[in-house]
Amino acid sequence: MAHRITLIPGDGIGPEVSAAVVRIIEAAGVVVEWEEHHAGVRAVEQSGSTLPQALLDSVTANRVALKGPVTTPVGEGFTSVNVGLRKALDLYANLRPVSNLPGVPSRFQGVDMVIVRENTEDLYAGLENEIVPGVVAGLKIITATASERIARFAFRHAVDNGRRKITAIHKANIMKQADGLFLRSARMVAKEFPDVKYDEKIVDNACMQLVMRPEQFDVLLLPNLYGDIVSDLGAGLVGGLGVVPGANLGERSAVFEAVHGSAPDIAGLDVANPTALLLSALMMLRHIGERTPADVIFGAVSRVLAAGATLTRDLGGTASTTQYTDAVVGEI
Ligand code: NAD
Repeated sequence: MAHRITLIPGDGIGPEVSAAVVRIIEAAGVVVEWEEHHAGVRAVEQSGSTLPQALLDSVTANRVALKGPVTTPVGEGFTSVNVGLRKALDLYANLRPVSNLPGVPSRFQGVDMVIVRENTEDLYAGLENEIVPGVVAGLKIITATASERIARFAFRHAVDNGRRKITAIHKANIMKQADGLFLRSARMVAKEFPDVKYDEKIVDNACMQLVMRPEQFDVLLLPNLYGDIVSDLGAGLVGGLGVVPGANLGERSAVFEAVHGSAPDIAGLDVANPTALLLSALMMLRHIGERTPADVIFGAVSRVLAAGATLTRDLGGTASTTQYTDAVVGEI
């Protein structure tokens, strides 16, 4: 039976890496009817909106989407399509596994953690105002409802996946009320899960600990902004943005996308590493019950990475996106 999945190729390197991933999924024998929709600048050209209703309707109907990165203008222009999509579909949990992969060069070994990031509020609510010229106020929104919901998600994820410890990351020494509420919510939920260890770290110390002894971390629970920043730090521990996947999960739908952005510096050059989006797609295949092809593809990727002969530029190799994709397909 064919799976109907929304495909948002994105822009920048998005179309290149998503084409690679679609090819690999097809090579593994998974039958997918892709419903392609554009977002961001590519969508404006077609529909006048950066986040067209037809795209939202498609994800709502299919309940699953694979998404490439979408560019957000810096300091001006339209608001983030990525943030907008997560809010519109209430994809409240951003799950980002950060692990060493065979053959991927890194200064660290034994990194195996999962970042659980609240995905709907915090400073990402985008509520900013120039109160008087030269003074801008940005609102940090933290609610008990969203904080408890993401904490419960993190604990459930730990229980379901045999993970032992949750570390809540905060700056409640300074933002006593906002981060204080996030922490109180996490502590309350922690009591419901006595078999999972719970501890807390202030975000600056957590960053230092992450680059000193990353192997001590298991599940990291963070509000939106710290979660975004710490995700890229995490990527740096295991070989970079080219290899770290992610999922945006809600009660009804799920959008799978890499941690990385549209990488305009390398867009169109056939050098981007599709592994991050591919590993996101493997999370998606497992989510829709296609565990065997997900395992087969993971085996193929692992062999190509471990062999080391066909690595993309970001991992120290010289292979193009196409050559790397050919190699993975050849291993399936
Ligand atoms: P980026 O993640 O696009 O790139 C950072 C660096 O990592 C660049 O040097 C890039 O070449 C490299 N890189 C990223 N992905 C790679 C890959 N798959 N293979 C090889 N190298 C890779 O971050 P940025 O440059 O800060 O942001 C660019 C744009 O992407 C911005 O408009 C930003 O808003 C957007 N963005 C979108 C998302 C999303 O769609 N979810 C996430 C992050 C950033």
